[in-house]
Amino acid sequence: MLPLLSLPLPPLSQRVTHQLLPDGYTPSPTSLISTQDSTPSLIRRSRPVPHGAAFSYVSPLTLPFPYEFPKEEVKAANAATQNGGKEGIGEESAEQQYERQMNQVEGVLRRYEVAPSDLAAPAYPAKSKDGLAGYVAVGKQSQSYPSARLLGISPAALEDCLPELDVGDSFDFIAKTTGRDGPDTYSSGPMAQQPTSDEGKARYQLSDVLGGRAWPAVLPSNEAELDDFSGCGVYARKVADDWKKEDAVQRWERRKRELATRRQQSSYAGWSQAYAGHQFGSWAGQLGDGRAITLFETLNNTVDPPERWEVQLKGAGRTPYSRFADGLAVLASSVREYLGSEIIAAMGIPTSRALAVVSLPDVDVMRERRNPAAITTRLAQSWIRIGSFQLPASRADWEAVRLMGEYVSRVLFRFDGVPESQESDVQRQPWAKKLLLEAARRNARMAAGWQSVGWTHGVLNTDNISILGLTIDYGPYGFLDIFDQEATPNHSDDMARYSYKMQPSMVLFAIKHLATSLSPILGFEDKHGRAPSPGELVSMKPEDLEELSEAGEALVRADVDQTFVDETMREWKRLFRNKLALEKEEQDEKSALLDPLLEVLEGLDFTLTQRKLKDFLPVLEESVQGAADQEEGIQKAVDSFVPTWYDGTRVLEYLKDDKREQAVKWLTSFAQRTLRDLGDDGVKAAGWGTARSAGMAAHCPRFVLRNWVGQEVVQRLEEKHDTAFLQRVLEMCLHPYEEWGSARDGKSEEVLEEERRLCEVGTPLERNMPSCSS
Ligand code: AMP
Ligand code: MG
Repeated sequence: MLPLLSLPLPPLSQRVTHQLLPDGYTPSPTSLISTQDSTPSLIRRSRPVPHGAAFSYVSPLTLPFPYEFPKEEVKAANAATQNGGKEGIGEESAEQQYERQMNQVEGVLRRYEVAPSDLAAPAYPAKSKDGLAGYVAVGKQSQSYPSARLLGISPAALEDCLPELDVGDSFDFIAKTTGRDGPDTYSSGPMAQQPTSDEGKARYQLSDVLGGRAWPAVLPSNEAELDDFSGCGVYARKVADDWKKEDAVQRWERRKRELATRRQQSSYAGWSQAYAGHQFGSWAGQLGDGRAITLFETLNNTVDPPERWEVQLKGAGRTPYSRFADGLAVLASSVREYLGSEIIAAMGIPTSRALAVVSLPDVDVMRERRNPAAITTRLAQSWIRIGSFQLPASRADWEAVRLMGEYVSRVLFRFDGVPESQESDVQRQPWAKKLLLEAARRNARMAAGWQSVGWTHGVLNTDNISILGLTIDYGPYGFLDIFDQEATPNHSDDMARYSYKMQPSMVLFAIKHLATSLSPILGFEDKHGRAPSPGELVSMKPEDLEELSEAGEALVRADVDQTFVDETMREWKRLFRNKLALEKEEQDEKSALLDPLLEVLEGLDFTLTQRKLKDFLPVLEESVQGAADQEEGIQKAVDSFVPTWYDGTRVLEYLKDDKREQAVKWLTSFAQRTLRDLGDDGVKAAGWGTARSAGMAAHCPRFVLRNWVGQEVVQRLEEKHDTAFLQRVLEMCLHPYEEWGSARDGKSEEVLEEERRLCEVGTPLERNMPSCSS
């Protein structure tokens, strides 16, 4: 078992930061260090990133924004600068005053960043050469710096993704501190008690890193080893004039040299991704991780081949992509992401995972009201999105598109024939169409999964669609309670663009934009039977590129649609057959059985109504066995089951008869289908009713994370520090198919009663939805 910082890093050939081009302002971790020392605000200032940049190096900083520094901090910072601690002087001009204030900001920020002089003495020294060390800047050691409190760790994410991670006494610590407040409940940081045991130390380190205090990096131990890419975007300034003068070919040649240099270096640090995207259908230009910072990538070596995971903090402070916002996240949205991703994973739908949620009790975040801040630790094999391709494509930066496509093809999809080398004499197999269709299929399966459990994402912008077909960016998502095909959980989505019904089309919309972003490469591969070599696209004439692009897009248009629609439908039908415990496929099952089921569900609780169906099958078996003919048996079973199937109290009075008629009709056709599925011999063999009932129970969840449940978790955390309740709800998220609420494992009636309550509809989805980006 290994403490967090001792987890293995992947080889350089698989690292995002060594395979893609960094933001030219801080082209390496050592240049980030120098910038932190000279112009620290540059790291957190919103700015357009230059050509080619797929990411920017950045470190976490969990301070409220706009930064309002405590007086003593400003004094201390001023004392350390040439200003000599002098306050502003009356005779200052406006410009001088501005300059002085900026200097103060730089001075204070500098205290919170790791300085070159700190390199020799990290708080957590590296365990191996080229392993991660954990650095804690001077300002982050002071008593006024916010400490962190571990609220929860998902045992499932731990086991599935990072089974070698040693979390020390974290679980005990969380359990022990539930219901209490104050510094002795802090799991790390300057206010927390220093642990003495090894278990305590592993927990402290974990929480220190996941709370954004200790910064994981691989850096030279010696200040003198910092390279000349250093300081205040000095590198950027140095080449600034050249940047203006160079043409696209020269720029690519320079970037290629930088990449080659970078690929030789072992220095390593966290980053935020640059991307772009269509938000609610409109082009939004450059976006990026405004409050997400990947700390490092690691390998799960217990599986073969080893699985890579990126460890990312959401809500740990500003990045160059934060625009006007604070880079922080409130407790409510962090807890929702934590629970939401874990239940989606437990239902077998591809998703990013949530390892932990940490609160920052001393940081207030301003939204509609003052909120406590929290950080989610998210894990994914990659955080590359369709928007990651759209950014360079929108700038006609085809070499950057190619680099990203090759990275995804080689490292994530493991296609053959995609070399790492950026030399132009190496042959390259075509990859673009394969990548596109693979992304289409994966995203299709994801969307089918959402539809099958009645889950809505809420913000299906192209920057929120993963290239790997993972559910990512949990914001105003929701499980539908009272089913309505037009429902969206996002209250700012007036047009219901991202409603339940629209989800597959919206994912396809994003996939089409991926096709557009890859179009010249698709055209090139078709024309030449090989992938473009480095530098080849940038040296082509614009009109030739245009032609390739048009040909490329035309070439895949039909394929993309067909692949996506077929795969969604295939997976959707498969999932519903599982839910209905049907084994054989039937040609017309969509129109004959599944669409009509959704019509029955309209206006009823999506989850419990389906779950309840499992009780129908034993009734059906008994009835058919005792009846003179099958039709009679079916009718008897249907008549006796219908009154108990769904909660009639929620159906509007004037619709009651219609709903009942619909239900009778559907159950009858389901019963007929079940008997056909069993075949004559199958129907005669006793026990199929219970066997199929168990099959349904394994695919129709009993518990889903309803909005009101998430809200109650947050409220109890805020008011009573009730981490035990968070843990209980997480358990239910991790086992959605369990028979919650029925007597088992010696549970007390009180506990069972609570389980039943948490499975109930409560206040349905339409009300009290959280806002976007909270
Ligand atoms: P979303 O709709 O949540 O996917 O967010 C859209 C963009 O805004 C993304 O690039 C986010 O990183 C960014 N963003 C959202 N909330 C914040 C925040 N509190 N601070 C900085 N950036 C944010
Ligand atoms: Mg997003």
